[in-house]
Amino acid sequence: MKMISPSNVAVDIGQTLKPHEYIGMVRREVLDAHLRDRASAAGATVINGLFTKMDKPLDKYAPYVIHYNEYDGRPGSSGKKVTMEVDAVIGADGANSRVAKSIDAGDYEYAIAFQERIKIPDDKMKYYENLAEMYVGDDVSPDFYGWVFPKCDHVAVGTGTVTHKPDIKKFQLATRLRARDKILGGKIIRVEAHPIPEHPRPRRLANRVALVGDAAGYVTKCSGEGIYFAAKSGRMCAEAIVEGSENGTRMVEEADLRKYLEKWDKTYWPTYKVLDILQKVFYRSNPAREAFVEMCADEYVQKMTFDSYLYKKVAPGNPLEDLKLAVNTIGSLVRANALRNEMAKI
Ligand SMILES: Cc1cc2nc3c(=O)[nH]c(=O)nc-3n(C[C@H](O)[C@H](O)[C@H](O)COP(=O)(O)OP(=O)(O)OC[C@H]3O[C@@H](n4cnc5c(N)ncnc54)[C@H](O)[C@@H]3O)c2cc1C
Repeated sequence: MKMISPSNVAVDIGQTLKPHEYIGMVRREVLDAHLRDRASAAGATVINGLFTKMDKPLDKYAPYVIHYNEYDGRPGSSGKKVTMEVDAVIGADGANSRVAKSIDAGDYEYAIAFQERIKIPDDKMKYYENLAEMYVGDDVSPDFYGWVFPKCDHVAVGTGTVTHKPDIKKFQLATRLRARDKILGGKIIRVEAHPIPEHPRPRRLANRVALVGDAAGYVTKCSGEGIYFAAKSGRMCAEAIVEGSENGTRMVEEADLRKYLEKWDKTYWPTYKVLDILQKVFYRSNPAREAFVEMCADEYVQKMTFDSYLYKKVAPGNPLEDLKLAVNTIGSLVRANALRNEMAKI
């Protein structure tokens, strides 16, 4: 992976990875289909449907009635209105979750992420075969980063912002410009834009309905990672239901589903907090971003970053190295601020 600073200083990170460690890149159109097929093979009934609303249970043990439009896959088909009775609902329906609305889960602040899938010439694709790029700078995003990620036979070029959403296309153009020489001759094959939650919703559980993934608001700051956390929260919530229902022999209650939330918050709260602080410190100005990229060259920073990223734990540090890191960080930030002051004078 390359981190590229506002002045285009590029730092290679990832040298501390062990042979079996890697940062996975996925194409959602492939991954999602794979997960659906796997669920089906494991016994789930997969329905192609659009959830529209649900009726709340009349008493503690009564079922929820969910309403949805069922599609048969034929193009242009408007779907058939269907209802189904269920014991519990896991809302995994993304940032614009209707399940969240139906339990008055409340809103969250969100970023807008924009991404273009670009088919680039084969010789250029060779460069990105095993490489992801992260660009930082006011030009590509005032509060996030721009990226070029490999997607097997093409690349995804994108960026995101919370604070300047109407300017997203301007930031996208700047990201493309920064990578210009490396994606020259590329053809845009798909454009994607979607909200990304900035923090969890005020309410993630009501009776026997729980939210997971983007519906709950589980994307990390700084890295914008949401796929792992969506999958993991879905699994944790399902495990809580299986356990609470004693493998389907007992009706679950809110307290059973709450165990998922408690476990989630206990496991991941430190990760979210640390990434929130990092974003606030390092994505706030170009000098701070230069300092961030400079710091990323440090082997200890890389090891800590990748250990935290791969194992989803705030990695316990080595006290002496932590002290050195603190001194280096302050040094980088002081240099960055000194640079900013000098720039202001000019
Ligand atoms: C441009 C962009 C780039 C990103 N890059 C990364 C990245 O590199 N790494 C990373 O980890 N994360 C990335 N993210 C974030 C990541 O995509 C999300 O955090 C993740 O997809 C959340 O998964 P989810 O299953 O909760 O929601 P989603 O992936 O949004 O899935 C929700 C599903 O529910 C379905 N649905 C919605 N409404 C209904 C309904 N009413 N009835 C039935 N089904 C419904 C949708 O069709 C969809 O299939 C990116 C996001 C964007 C927008």
